[in-house]
Amino acid sequence: MADIIQLLPDHVANQIAAGEVVQRPASVVKELMENAIDAGASTVKLIVKDGGKTLIQVIDDGVGMSATDARLSFERHATSKIRKAEDLFNLSTNGFRGEALASIAAIAHVEMQSRTEQDEVATHIRIEGSKVISQEVTVAPKGTSMMVKNLFFNIPARRNFLKSTQVELRHIIDEFHRVALAHPSISFHFYNNGNEIFNLPISNDRQRIVNVFGGKTNEKLVPVKEETQVVSISGFICKPEFAKKSRGEQFFFVNNRFIKSPYLHHAIVAAFDGLIKKDSHPGYFLYLTVDPGAIDINIHPTKTEVKFDDEHTLYAILRSTVKHSLGQFNVIPSLDFDQDQNLETPYDYKNKSVEQPRVVVDSGFNPFKEEYSATRGGATSVKKPATKGWESLYSGMESQGEKNTDFSSISFESDTITGSIFDDSKIGVDAVTTTFQLRRKYIVTTIKSGMVVIDQSRAHQRVLYENFLKNITVKEAVSQQLLFPLSLTFSKADRDIIMEIKENLISIGFDFEAIGEEEIKISGVPLSVPESEVDMILDQLISDYQQDFVVDGFSQTDVLSKTLAKSLAVKTGEVLDRDSQLALVNDLFACKESRLSPFNKSIYVTITEDDIDKKFI
Ligand code: ADP
Ligand code: MG
Repeated sequence: MADIIQLLPDHVANQIAAGEVVQRPASVVKELMENAIDAGASTVKLIVKDGGKTLIQVIDDGVGMSATDARLSFERHATSKIRKAEDLFNLSTNGFRGEALASIAAIAHVEMQSRTEQDEVATHIRIEGSKVISQEVTVAPKGTSMMVKNLFFNIPARRNFLKSTQVELRHIIDEFHRVALAHPSISFHFYNNGNEIFNLPISNDRQRIVNVFGGKTNEKLVPVKEETQVVSISGFICKPEFAKKSRGEQFFFVNNRFIKSPYLHHAIVAAFDGLIKKDSHPGYFLYLTVDPGAIDINIHPTKTEVKFDDEHTLYAILRSTVKHSLGQFNVIPSLDFDQDQNLETPYDYKNKSVEQPRVVVDSGFNPFKEEYSATRGGATSVKKPATKGWESLYSGMESQGEKNTDFSSISFESDTITGSIFDDSKIGVDAVTTTFQLRRKYIVTTIKSGMVVIDQSRAHQRVLYENFLKNITVKEAVSQQLLFPLSLTFSKADRDIIMEIKENLISIGFDFEAIGEEEIKISGVPLSVPESEVDMILDQLISDYQQDFVVDGFSQTDVLSKTLAKSLAVKTGEVLDRDSQLALVNDLFACKESRLSPFNKSIYVTITEDDIDKKFI
């Protein structure tokens, strides 16, 4: 057989490498900004159009490049940052692979202008899909301007996979945050479609955080400082009362490089143990400095992971340092009459009761009693009992609860579909008159063939979810006007998300307006949303939007309904009275889909008489 192995041409190799380096516009932003920083810039400008799909430009006032360097910088493995393998163990720059520019040039239209201090003229290079189109001499200030247009123009599959402009912009903002927070001594400007969205002057760590995340951030920050032989730590943690539902504001920087480390993250969570609720996340901005020889940043192509020589020690130091700060800055005062009661007992202990757990059993309950009356009633007449018990699911809003929470008034095409469980067993829904709650977690009720065990939280999620979806579609939700409008502050980016979904929020009953750049004034909330939860719900919404990458209108309403359902549903551990149990069961089986929760988890299991009989053999 003839030889068949060939070396790939450079432009093909570059395209393949690009697959690793450039996942989306935000990756280009990261690489270009890091190059600007490595070039010693004191001012970096980022200009983006259409979420980076049509244009990403980074302009710096760094050292610039000579004509030869400018041309060479686009070659693969061309770098000025390392010369030999040993240099890898003593890195002080962001880049070192010499791959970024070659990769970007392989999949976009790139224009670069660069001039060094010594040169009188600048070099202007245009490259399209690895092909140099032109190289000219031009006039330009010292430094470099990199313009990347039409990303993935020659890889339609990749281009089509890009998300909506807003989603890509969010990723870019995330990268921008990381770079900007790591370098407070550099000033950054960020323009999106011609509007300045960040203007960050040279400052210290604290001011930079506040400039990025908004004025109100300042009061949340607790300083952290520790010097040891292994590591020096500085930065801030957010006070426990500002812990968020979203994971947004969690930043580790190691030697001025943003990194992700689930292990070190865990150290912080451990330090906060007992101070914040289980499902909320502490915020932190921690800057670690370690000997460059003690870490390996070479393990991940996009370099957000780092391997530490001595992770365990680092973990222990981090945890105790954060704990110390929490104590030192009186976040947990020992005797303070204004103290938030929630801080006194660790949340973990909240649900631990001293008594033996017990099941409250209705002694008159007979699981198989109902089937007789049901058979007599006939299978077709499906009549739902009044659901007056719902109000008790929403403590504190009894007065208005009825209008919105009486889900039985919603006409879903339920009768045919809900049958799935009851038709099989030849009984009607009205047969459900007896329920009991098991371990504050399940509602047990009967069907002809045996019994159903329903997960109370998932069932309620489903009921609320369908209700919210309906409200959004028909846009007739009732809003509850607040006597004193709530004023909430958000970072600019978070506020933008809220404004993006404004219309849907209004159609489910929110009433609000934006004030200034960071504030939102809420004057009305949906009936089912307690005022005290608004803050938490919006927070959760923002985080769900960031993670789910909502694109079109449909999924936007979906995420919104899911978030609200998740936040407002009764939880495991809550006691439901009889009426509420009954209402929940009946409303569940009036849903279009009663088997699965909005998050695709089973809502109930059935246990037939046969199953039970078998146990007794
Ligand atoms: P790396 O950053 O890993 O070295 P890149 O492909 O990002 O690889 O860049 C290649 C080289 O081009 C860099 O090593 C640097 O010498 C030069 N370079 C890139 N961007 C700039 C810039 N903004 N200013 C000055 N030099 C730059
Ligand atoms: Mg680079």
